[in-house]
Amino acid sequence: MKPDMLKQTDPEVFDAVRRETNRQHNNLELIASENFVSEAVLEALGSPLTNKYAEGYPKKRYYGGCRFVDIAEDLARERAKALFQADHANVQPHSGTSANIAAYLVLADPGATIMGLNLSHGGHLSHGHPINFSGKYYKVVQYTVDEKTEQLDYDAIRKLALEHKPKIVISGASAYPRTLHFDRFQEICDEVGAAQVADIAHIAGPIAAGLHPSPVPHAQIVTTTTHKTLRGPRGAMILCKQEFAEAVDKMVFPGTQGGPLEHCIAAKAVAFKEAMSDGFKEYQRQTLANAKALADGLASRGFRIVSGGTDNHLMLVDLRPKKVTGRDAERALGKVRITVNRNTIPFDPEKPFIASGIRLGTPALTTRGMKEPEMARIAELIERTIASIGDEPATEKVKEDVKELTGAFPLYAERRTEYKRLHDEDA
Ligand SMILES: *Cc1c(COP(=O)(O)O)cnc(C)c1O
Repeated sequence: MKPDMLKQTDPEVFDAVRRETNRQHNNLELIASENFVSEAVLEALGSPLTNKYAEGYPKKRYYGGCRFVDIAEDLARERAKALFQADHANVQPHSGTSANIAAYLVLADPGATIMGLNLSHGGHLSHGHPINFSGKYYKVVQYTVDEKTEQLDYDAIRKLALEHKPKIVISGASAYPRTLHFDRFQEICDEVGAAQVADIAHIAGPIAAGLHPSPVPHAQIVTTTTHKTLRGPRGAMILCKQEFAEAVDKMVFPGTQGGPLEHCIAAKAVAFKEAMSDGFKEYQRQTLANAKALADGLASRGFRIVSGGTDNHLMLVDLRPKKVTGRDAERALGKVRITVNRNTIPFDPEKPFIASGIRLGTPALTTRGMKEPEMARIAELIERTIASIGDEPATEKVKEDVKELTGAFPLYAERRTEYKRLHDEDA
């Protein structure tokens, strides 16, 4: 690592990078979609592979000089297939949304009917929201969770599918704390003649570790981001059955993207190798155990956990028993350096911008090495923060306690030492 180059060339960007790295260390990161990649992943990301144009696929490129990026992309594809036991992998999608665009276009022409989980019930914008391409170019039917259980009701989903005969049923979510039954989704799809796109952006890590049922044996196409629980670089991939391999590759390039980001693809290969290790399985196990511990800690302090608990790495917390909105809680927690996002809860009476809940996830803090005792401590800190809104001295005390906790679990320590040395030189 040579951060001094950046400092010399562009001190303003250097400063933003230095401060963001320190922010990541100094905050308790509970955003469920975030994680901290390894130094090896960062090194691949910051490599000269970013310079290479490589339109096409390994050994079938439209540019010369692709020998070495071919090696990296082949490693990424082979490892992805092995990790998820998939017939085929395309590792070029720049983002989860791009992967979904390609997947839908393979299976259904614009104008067709698609079915996905409603955004305010845990779905994703790219699952048919009216302001997203998916909602603009497809006819959308949205399913919801059940009002009583706050969980998916597969009989209700089946009824809706029988009524609307969608071409695609999207399974997968951004804010759903319970196990997804991809086999049930597939039964519904088979009955109505739909294809299943399983979007495992959030739960790819637990699935890779064998801690959540995999959609790969069932769904026609599986999409995922690589930067959430999978702990790789920002980006995505598509897994599919052999019969869709050629169509998927064509729809990613040239269908919906241009040149691939070969530095990101190399970093994906590194992350997939890491994900095959026993250490990664243990990490995922701990992430889920931490989510349970955090949910239990909050429930015992009078918060209401949506659907009564969590089976995965995240939970939705209904704040109404504490008489505070999602927006105000997000702000108050931000002040003491606990990072969360406000989130609507199912059947939320508040607008999404205000929201009645927050979404919490444990992947990032588990990467830092935190375990159940720290989760119990964080539940206490969250309760105290909410109880201290408007009380400056009490808020200040929580902030000090957060600092003590983050200080005990250093993140990117070598980088921060180097930044400190370079920064203090200015002074
Ligand atoms: C995060 C997420 C995505 C989108 O990923 P981006 O890389 O931000 O486009 C898609 N689907 C689901 C379910 C997600 O949670």
